[in-house]
Amino acid sequence: MLDYNSLLIALSFCSAGLAFTFFGSWLVSRTDSILMTWAGGVSCLAIALIFYQSFVAEFSPVIGIVAFAALLIGLALFMGSAYQFQTGKLPARTVAVTAGVSIALMAVPMLRGYDGISYIALNLGAAAFMLATAWEYWRWRAEAPLLILLLSALYALTALSFVLCAVVLLQQGEWMMHRAPSGWAENINLVMSITSIGGLGALSLALNQVRITRHHQREAEHDSLTGLLNRRALFDKSQRVAAPVAVVVFDVDHFKAVNDRHGHQVGDTVLQTFASLLAANTREGDLAARLGGEEFVIVLSGTMAAQAMQVAERVRESLAGQRFISSSGDFGVTVSAGVACENGEVDIIALLRRADFALYDAKHTGRNRVLLSSSEASLAPFDAAMAAGDSIVRLRS
Ligand code: GH3
Ligand code: MG
Ligand code: MG
Repeated sequence: MLDYNSLLIALSFCSAGLAFTFFGSWLVSRTDSILMTWAGGVSCLAIALIFYQSFVAEFSPVIGIVAFAALLIGLALFMGSAYQFQTGKLPARTVAVTAGVSIALMAVPMLRGYDGISYIALNLGAAAFMLATAWEYWRWRAEAPLLILLLSALYALTALSFVLCAVVLLQQGEWMMHRAPSGWAENINLVMSITSIGGLGALSLALNQVRITRHHQREAEHDSLTGLLNRRALFDKSQRVAAPVAVVVFDVDHFKAVNDRHGHQVGDTVLQTFASLLAANTREGDLAARLGGEEFVIVLSGTMAAQAMQVAERVRESLAGQRFISSSGDFGVTVSAGVACENGEVDIIALLRRADFALYDAKHTGRNRVLLSSSEASLAPFDAAMAAGDSIVRLRS
């Protein structure tokens, strides 16, 4: 025989423990405000369970309303946290309005003596919040498929156990019960709640941890000023680029003079603008990286020399067409580039070296131009390379 009240007390302790865990995790990582939303939500559940346990022992509409309102607020917060998980911001208005409406639908019948209707409203409200939460996580399953599948399934199953309670109450048709509902559906609901509270807590924390790990991984792979890949990530990822591969190395012309004349901050803006030009001129599957200082590289997948030179030329022209503004007047910046291409297995170091040679020649033949590495003679038709622009010059082999 199930000791319903002891289980309710156990569940309230369990919720309180989870609230402390979320709060403690938030203290360690205060930028993760979602941990506070979870802590708030699960604290409401703990309060709801303490009051509900007293409500089951002795029927009192006011205590019932407090218990059910705390439950609905907690579940509304969980729903809000599912949105917050993606947007980084708790939709406080939606949480407040949906919690307010569901509390009103539950409390009004209770105050008028129709507690049977109040329980049905509570169960349906709780189920709606949990299904909305399950759905919101499910929409973002690409981020961590297995974890989110489990999280959504657990929310949905718990929602179902609340629906079951509502269906049984509807079948009974007893609108004025003046006692807490009981029976097999309530027992299933309690067992399901005990199962899911620990599971949902652990899964939520695991999901947050996946997020943090990804964030650190992203930071380790990207240059903080421009958001492009850094040198190490470029070397790692270039192994997976589909052949033929073309590499274009860019170096901003007379960049030291830009810094000297206009200041380091304006120089940074130039680098950021140039990085966004590179990002805009590459496709998915290509790589764009900052090698260091004012030196950048793009690795183009499935690309021959002629096309790569066209891309490089487009980037060069775009930068040359930009005007930058500083306190000492507006100014323009140019860039030089070297292109190298490989048909077979990608050796990024060799490719970069060849592209660098071409870049060196571009610098020494006047800057603001794109040059093809001399060893590409057999890879790309001369005409196509020339057609890409006047400033493209093929070096003699
Ligand atoms: P060249 O046309 O031959 O490439 O001349 P340059 O002046 O561009 O080349 P040089 O290597 O002499 O100068 C590069 C400058 O880039 C020097 C350095 O202060 C500046 N620089 C490197 N990293 C950054 C950065 O993150 N921000 C800014 N604003 N400047 C940087
Ligand atoms: Mg330079
Ligand atoms: Mg340089």
